[in-house]
Amino acid sequence: MLAERVARAAGTGGSVPVEYCQACGHAPLRKVLSLGYMPPVNQMVPIGAPARQQPWFPTELLYCPQCELVQLGLAVDPVIIFPPEYPYTSGTTKLLRDNFADLYREASATLKLSPQDLVLDIGSNDGTLLANFKNGGHRVLGIEPTDVGRLAAAKGIPTLARYFGPAAASEVKRAHGGARVVTAANCFAHMEDVHAVLAGILDLLAPDGVFISESHYLVGLMDRLQYDTIYHEHLRYYSLTSLAKLLEMHGLEVFHARPIPTHGGSIRVYAARRGAQPVHETVAKMLASEPHGEEMERRLAAFAREVMLSKLRLLALVRELKEGGARICGISAPSRASTLVNYVGLDEGIVEYVCEIAGSLKIGKCMPGTSIPVVEEDRLFADQPDCAIIFSWHIAGELAPKLRAKGYRGKLISPLPVPCEVT
Ligand SMILES: [Zn+2]
Repeated sequence: MLAERVARAAGTGGSVPVEYCQACGHAPLRKVLSLGYMPPVNQMVPIGAPARQQPWFPTELLYCPQCELVQLGLAVDPVIIFPPEYPYTSGTTKLLRDNFADLYREASATLKLSPQDLVLDIGSNDGTLLANFKNGGHRVLGIEPTDVGRLAAAKGIPTLARYFGPAAASEVKRAHGGARVVTAANCFAHMEDVHAVLAGILDLLAPDGVFISESHYLVGLMDRLQYDTIYHEHLRYYSLTSLAKLLEMHGLEVFHARPIPTHGGSIRVYAARRGAQPVHETVAKMLASEPHGEEMERRLAAFAREVMLSKLRLLALVRELKEGGARICGISAPSRASTLVNYVGLDEGIVEYVCEIAGSLKIGKCMPGTSIPVVEEDRLFADQPDCAIIFSWHIAGELAPKLRAKGYRGKLISPLPVPCEVT
C-alpha cells in the first residue's frame, strides 16, 4: 500500500507531485507555503551563453496532519538535481569537518566500537566523515553515486559508486557482513523512496547495529526563517517527532538525539532495533520541546507569513540602496542562495555579481535562473562595491571578519532572518 503511494520521479526525466505523505501515506496533505517556481539549484549556465529555455519546478511545502512530516510537494528526478558532476564537497567546510570529528568521538564513546566493526556511510561524498572512523582503526565503506566519491577513493576510503537501496544493501552485506554503524549525514531527507532506503539499512544493520542520521532541523528552520534551505534536493524537513515515527514504522527506536550546528541548525539522531539500546533522556526532552498538532499548524502558518514579510523587507532595503545609487554584489553562492535570489526576484540589474573563493566550480557560471555572474572573490577587494549581501548568512559571523581582514570596506548585509547590516 505504502509502496504504491511513493512519488517516484527517478527515471521520469521530470517531476512527480507528492500526493500522499512520503512517510505514512496519508492524504490529503495541507499546504504550508509556496515559493513559486524555481530552477534546480545546480542549473548554472556559463556566463555569456545565449539564453535558452530551462526547466523550473513548483516549490511548495506540505504538512501531514497524521505523522507531522513537513515535506516538499514535488519529487524531481535525481538525475536533474544530482548530476554526476555534482559540485558539493563536505571536506571544504570547516564546520562540517569539525562536526564529523565530533560524530566520531560521540559514536565511538557511546557505542564502544571495536576495530573489526564495519561503519558504512550512505551518501559518503568525499569521505570526510568516514576518514575519522578509518583513522580510528575501524573498517569503513562509503556509498556515493556522484563523481565526488572518487575523491574519497583517492584518500584510501573504499567507496561504492551506487545509489543506496535494498539491492546495494544486500550486495554490501554479502561482501562485508552486517554493519555495526550506518550513517547518513545530510542525505536522509533527500532520497525519494525513504521506505526502500530504510529496508536496505535494516537488512544491513547487525543485530546490535545503530543507524545515525543527521538532517536539517524543521524547528530551527522555522525559528531562524531559513526558507532558503527549501529546494528540490530536500524532500523532507524532519522534526524529531516525524523522524521518530518514520523510523518506528521500520522497527527502529530513537535512543539519542541532539542539536548540531551544521547547515544553520541540524539534528543528529541515533536509532537501533527496538529495545536494543537504553533510551537517553535527550529523546523525551527534545520531543517535548517540539510543537505538535494544532500548535505545529499555527507555527507553520506564522512561518509562512514571516517568509512573505522577509521578502518585502529585503526588497525595501535593496530599493533604498539602489535609489541612493549603491552598487550591490553578493557573497558566496551556496545552493540556498538560489532559493533566496529567485523567490525575492533579485537579478543582474540589482546584484552585479556574486563572489566565490578561488577554486570554486561555480566561478564562470551564472546564479541559477538569472544572469548574475559568479566571479572570483578578488574582484570584491579591487572593486569595493557599496554593499555586499551575504548569501551564506547562516555563517555571516564567521565570514564578515575574514572579508574585513582581506580589505573589503563596504556594507555587509545579512538578508535573513531580518535584513540587517552585519557589523
Ligand atoms: Zn504522514
